[in-house]
Parts: sequence; C-alpha cells; structure tokens
Amino acid sequence: MPKLILSGMSLDELTEFTDSIEESKYRAKQLHNWIYLKSVSGFDEMTDISKKTRAKIEELAVITDVKIKHKQVSTDGTIKYLIEYADGNCVETVLMRFDNRANLTACVSSQVGCACNCKFCATAKLGFIRNLTPREIIEQVLTIQRDTGLKVTNIVFMGQGEPLLNLDNVLKAIDIFNRDFVIGIRRLTVSTCGIIPQINKLAQIDFQPTLAVSLHAPNHTLRESLMPIEKKYNIDELMSSLKAYVENTGRRVTIEYTLIKGFNDTIQCAKELAKLLIGLKANINLIIYNPNDTDTFEKPDKESIQKFKYILEQSGKKVTIRLERGSDIDAACGQLSNKMRS
Ligand code: SF4
Repeated sequence: MPKLILSGMSLDELTEFTDSIEESKYRAKQLHNWIYLKSVSGFDEMTDISKKTRAKIEELAVITDVKIKHKQVSTDGTIKYLIEYADGNCVETVLMRFDNRANLTACVSSQVGCACNCKFCATAKLGFIRNLTPREIIEQVLTIQRDTGLKVTNIVFMGQGEPLLNLDNVLKAIDIFNRDFVIGIRRLTVSTCGIIPQINKLAQIDFQPTLAVSLHAPNHTLRESLMPIEKKYNIDELMSSLKAYVENTGRRVTIEYTLIKGFNDTIQCAKELAKLLIGLKANINLIIYNPNDTDTFEKPDKESIQKFKYILEQSGKKVTIRLERGSDIDAACGQLSNKMRS
C-alpha cells in the first residue's frame, strides 16, 4: 500500500490519521506544527515525539513526495527551484528576498505550463500540460521552507500558469496558506491575465486575496498583439469587471504593466493608461521587461521608465516600479521556462 503523504493535510485530516494509529489529538497538532511552521524534511527532526511513535508513523507515512530537481541562487539572493512532482512533471518556484525588508516572498506556480500564450512570457512556450492540485501548490512553499529553514511571509501566484484557470485548487491552497501556514490573507496575491468570469467569481467569495491584473497595454489593439486572451476578454470589459470587483469587495486592485522598449513605454501609452484607469481604485506596478531567449523585445531605458511613472503619478495613482530580482538565473517575471528540466 502506498504511504500517506502528510504535507497538505489539514489539522482535522492529521487528527484522523493519528486517531487511526491510536495516537492522541495532541500528536496531530505536533505533526501539524512540524510540517507547516518548522517545515522539517524528516521524522527524526520531530524531537518532541518519541522515537517509538516516530517509527510507527514512518511505517505508514512520508512527509512529502516532491523533489528539488535543480536549484539556482542569484547574486541578489533570489533562489529559483525546479520542483519535480511524483508524475515527473516540473514547475519553477522562486523565493525573493528584499534587502531592506523582513519579508520573504514566494512566487508560486499554479499550473504545469500555461495555455494563455502571452508573447513576452517564457512559460507560454511550454504550452498547457495540467493543473496543479492544492497540495502540489503548497508543496512549493514547503520545499522553500525545508530547504532554507526560513518562514515564507508573503505568497504571490505569479509563477507558471494562469491561477484563475485553476481557481478552485488555487482557492483551496490559499485557504491552507492562510489557516495552516498562518499567512494573512492580504499577504497572498493572485495575478491574472484577465479571465473575466473568474474575476467575477472571485468577487463573490468570503475571503479575498489581493488581486493583481496583468494589463501590459493601454488599449485593445496593442494588448491583443501581446496577449491573445484580449481576443476573448477585451480591455473595456476587463475594466468594468474590475470596477465591479472593487465595489463588491472594497479591495483595491493592482495593475501590472510590463514596460517594453518602443512597444508600450511611450508618453502616449502612459497618458492612455492614466485615462483608462480613471475611476478604478488601483495601484500600478510597473515591471521592467526581462529579456528571455524566446522573443525579440527589449528592456526600456531609464528615462522612459521615469517619464511613464511620472505621468501616471500625475493622474493620482500610487505607482511602484517592481524591483528586479533573479534575472541572472532567469527567475524574474516572464522568464520561468523550466530550462534546467533535462
Ligand atoms: S504571463 Fe502568465 S498567463 Fe501569460 S502565458 Fe505566462 S504564465 Fe501564462
């Protein structure tokens, strides 16, 4: 009989397991603590459980069945993991640290590959393979915690895949992050390329993670040439859906805009974007395009970045420029391609 995998189990499920081996509820709490908060890799590290009980548990269960297939560390401290699941499929997960902050942010994947085919994205070249289960999603964060011994404080669903096309599993994983990892809901961010029906669905649920929307262009024509999803869910409908989302939830959204030299970084684009966002409670996060092997786009120059930011700020929006992390190991936005898979 295959062994039970304990990672991903809720306290109630762990209690069912400890009941089945005639151990106390307190034992389940100990297991829960060792798995989620201390993130140990082996039962022998669970020092407040007797050797005899640990041996009994180990006969029936394992902590995890995922492996680190490859690991790269950037000069800026970012770590990129290629994680392999039991069926041989792999995803990339990134841990970002920012020098001046105590935050440790994990950027997790929600699917193996992606069907959305955004032109600037290395993941798109993999095509869509399959959705990740809630346990496979949370295993990415557990892998980081086991490997580094550190506790992740923030999670962004900005890795491989479109989270809203795997919404049920993503919401289950968010619930586990919130309840079992004790990460506040506002420290959990879901990023979408604009799947309108799922944004509308998200607006109706009780607990809202932060919603980030990849816009990347200020009008239909430009966006369509960069993001095929625009053909199905156009920018005007997307804006209406976001306004309704803000109204329903009271939460501000984040607009992500990747600046690409000569393509969408002009003054005209900045003005058009400012106009488009009038009336939407939103912060804007500008992302500097990171070149990857698969396209011909270029990084914008410093002057156009600053002008673009200034114009948006003049419109009254809070604008940040995302700090570039891990570009030397292809761990930055749009660069996740499972390059080290084989
Ligand atoms: S940017 Fe996101 S949604 Fe677009 S292809 Fe890449 S992984 Fe998919």
